[in-house]
Amino acid sequence: MASFRTLDNVDVKGKRVLLRVDLNVPMEETRVTDTTRIERILPTINEIAEKGGKVILLSHFGRPKGQRVDEDSLRQVLPTLEHYLKRKIAFADDCVGAPASAVVDAMKDGDIALLENTRFQKGEEKNDPAFVEEIAKLGDIFVHDAFSAAHRAHATTEGVAHRLPAYAGRTMQAELEALESSLTSPARPVMAIVGGAKVSTKLELLGNLVSKVQYLVIGGGMANTFLAAQGKAVGKSLCEHDLAGSARDILEKAKAANCVVVLPVDATVAQKFEEHAPSHIVSVDHVGENDMILDVGPKTVAHVEALLAQCRTLVWNGPFGAFELPPFDEGTNAVAQTAARLTVEGKLLSVAGGGDTVAALNQAHAGQEFSYVSTAGGAFLEWLEGKTLPGVAALQSQ
Ligand code: AMP
Repeated sequence: MASFRTLDNVDVKGKRVLLRVDLNVPMEETRVTDTTRIERILPTINEIAEKGGKVILLSHFGRPKGQRVDEDSLRQVLPTLEHYLKRKIAFADDCVGAPASAVVDAMKDGDIALLENTRFQKGEEKNDPAFVEEIAKLGDIFVHDAFSAAHRAHATTEGVAHRLPAYAGRTMQAELEALESSLTSPARPVMAIVGGAKVSTKLELLGNLVSKVQYLVIGGGMANTFLAAQGKAVGKSLCEHDLAGSARDILEKAKAANCVVVLPVDATVAQKFEEHAPSHIVSVDHVGENDMILDVGPKTVAHVEALLAQCRTLVWNGPFGAFELPPFDEGTNAVAQTAARLTVEGKLLSVAGGGDTVAALNQAHAGQEFSYVSTAGGAFLEWLEGKTLPGVAALQSQ
């Protein structure tokens, strides 16, 4: 059972529902270039509207830092939102004050309105109680559907959740359920795959995961730091030599927690960091002084796949190699496809997210088959670090 309140716990009919969403979508001129975040919030918006609630959408957009900046206006997202919802949506030129109350007061049950960028107001990022009060006046209940903003204790991601009865929207609910079943109460054994560029950005995450998972697979540029910490030559590879001590600490901590750390045993190396650069496969014991490790090799892939076949749960963040530059996407593609197959066969619960991971899995044509792919960046990583997200804590059932 969920440990947080959801739309199942409230009758929204006739209520003014402040719905926090993440409309911070990438744009090129007037076009939304990736509509994933919009598509994901549709079920919550439609459900509340169909049940007769008044849906008042709140979101940030860009980083206007308390100033009114035309290029950060949410008005430009309105046509795409209307297109996906197949209906007209009222727009208020401010998220508080007279413009907002005029729009909200005119709403009928089942209507939808979008308020202007919450970050145009200084009180948003400061979580200023007076601003929280202004926002709270506009609604009867608060529904949070922006997991990707839940790591921030801002007025519309946290403050207002303490001021009004607060519930998780369907997208937030799906995200929390996926994360709870992958780390809080997972089916074991659990494998975590952590790849990407640098160890420095993921030290806390690795430190947390070793106490939670049975297998910790380290790939990407960050694996080089671990190999170097074990005395192996890594040539010209991306490597944070100054973090050798931290890498050894993580290996020690893993040993004490009975977590098996899986490092690459072979690698695809090249002498240029570019697409289709001439490359070959070497053992990690024989990396040449001019070589750059740009992907894991086939023996590493086979080893990871064999372990994965014994696991019930997978949490994945970060690619195995420089996946944007073929053929250095092969390791990521192979393991992603195996994880996708095991998921489809019902043998594995697979959850992935953070940074470039979504792009890497989509490039491998595997993202669709994963049990859950999070579109949240920072919030997903903070969850993996074991941190309590303020916007989630505020939804917890008493
Ligand atoms: P992150 O944002 O930390 O998940 O890192 C993702 C980035 O790491 C991608 O842009 C990859 O190209 C890069 N990356 C992964 N493996 C390597 C590697 N062996 N050498 C250089 N860059 C890498």
